[in-house]
Amino acid sequence: MGEPVKRIRGVRDILPEETHLWRFMEWIVHAVMSTYGYQEIRTPAFEPTELFVRGVGLETDIVHKEMYTFTDKGGKSLTLKPELTAPVVRAYIQNHLDREAPITRLYYLDELYRQERPQKGRLRQFNQFGVEAIGSPHPEQDVEIIALAYDLCSLFVPQGLTVRLNSIGSPEQRGEYLKQLREVFQPYAADLDQLDRQRLKNNPLRLFDSKNPETQALLEQHAPLISDHISSEDRQHYEEVQAGLKALEVPFEHDPRQVRGLDYYTRTTFEITSGKLGAQDALCGGGRYDNLVQQLGGPDIPAIGFAAGVERLLLVAGESLKEKVTLRKLDVYLAVLAEEARAPALVRAQELRAAGYTVILETLRRSAKAQLREANRSEARAAVIMGEEEVKKGTCTVKRMDNGEQEEVAVDQLATHLDGILHPVPSTDK
Ligand code: AMP
Repeated sequence: MGEPVKRIRGVRDILPEETHLWRFMEWIVHAVMSTYGYQEIRTPAFEPTELFVRGVGLETDIVHKEMYTFTDKGGKSLTLKPELTAPVVRAYIQNHLDREAPITRLYYLDELYRQERPQKGRLRQFNQFGVEAIGSPHPEQDVEIIALAYDLCSLFVPQGLTVRLNSIGSPEQRGEYLKQLREVFQPYAADLDQLDRQRLKNNPLRLFDSKNPETQALLEQHAPLISDHISSEDRQHYEEVQAGLKALEVPFEHDPRQVRGLDYYTRTTFEITSGKLGAQDALCGGGRYDNLVQQLGGPDIPAIGFAAGVERLLLVAGESLKEKVTLRKLDVYLAVLAEEARAPALVRAQELRAAGYTVILETLRRSAKAQLREANRSEARAAVIMGEEEVKKGTCTVKRMDNGEQEEVAVDQLATHLDGILHPVPSTDK
């Protein structure tokens, strides 16, 4: 006994009033992904911690402070997946998918875990759908990925979306930029908080991820822009990405301060934001990661992907989705009014289900009045009533819940009769 156990902060129960919206969203995601030729991949809930340290980067917020890491009984350090790109790339390498085709298009719909400070739109266990296209370095691949992300997000949130686009160039060219960034920030080092000081020392690009408003103000005033420091090849690539998006009429804005909070990005980065979300305004984020496959021990193959947050999309789309997506109504409430009817009612319920009807059978042995009230409450389209008389005669009473009409029908006519009520053939009379 004692107090009931409560769920921890930052996780959610998704109740039946909402699960049908999730299923609708999942169904759309699977359908749209397949129209783009992407195939689903599922990876384990946990991975060796090393995968994320090597893949995502030690200085990132995710690895530095948000991972759920534990040691198993064999002394191995494991981590609940805090993002999906590193696991998908690990699976791609381990299963030699590169040997099967020169390009691999994968998508996922999965749950992840980050020990963040919970707030609206920021959870500790949440869901993402996303894609990884592994194989092509060319801008049209970037355009396809961004268009797919935009397409999917717009299906749920048709208005107010912005694609924020940037190019952070290649790491080989980044040295000069990072040197300048460090020089500009050095005079302010003493004013930075400890984490940002550490970022300045080890990986100054990560200063852009800072949640400290003073650091953000300094960046705004002093930081050189990374997109001004990329090579001419990277610039050409970026221009082609922009031209492709224009051709597809995907609206975008160049956002020179957007670097995304993970170390593996190269060239194109992007986010899709919604004005309706407040501080946590990103619905989707992605970019190119041309070195990650090799960095994780695989072949030298370029790639690009994105991930979108299911909870945030539902937060923005929730009310309008609720209006659009209705639950299938219950067809039949099967009321059982006598002891003799219990066994035959179980059989009738199974027969009707096998014929494709949704059926709820009374199992509380309530009074006739209470059962009919329940049929009403459950919004069943018909009540099938079985009492002593009906069992004797081999019949059931069928009550239409829309107009209250009642009719007694033979058991072997039940499905046909219900069909007539529930799926009436439209009249051809004018
Ligand atoms: P990221 O993997 O951080 O690039 O995030 C991609 C998307 O996942 C974001 O744009 C959000 O929609 C969603 N997301 C990220 N972190 C959280 C979180 N803690 N809670 C809910 N959604 C999140």
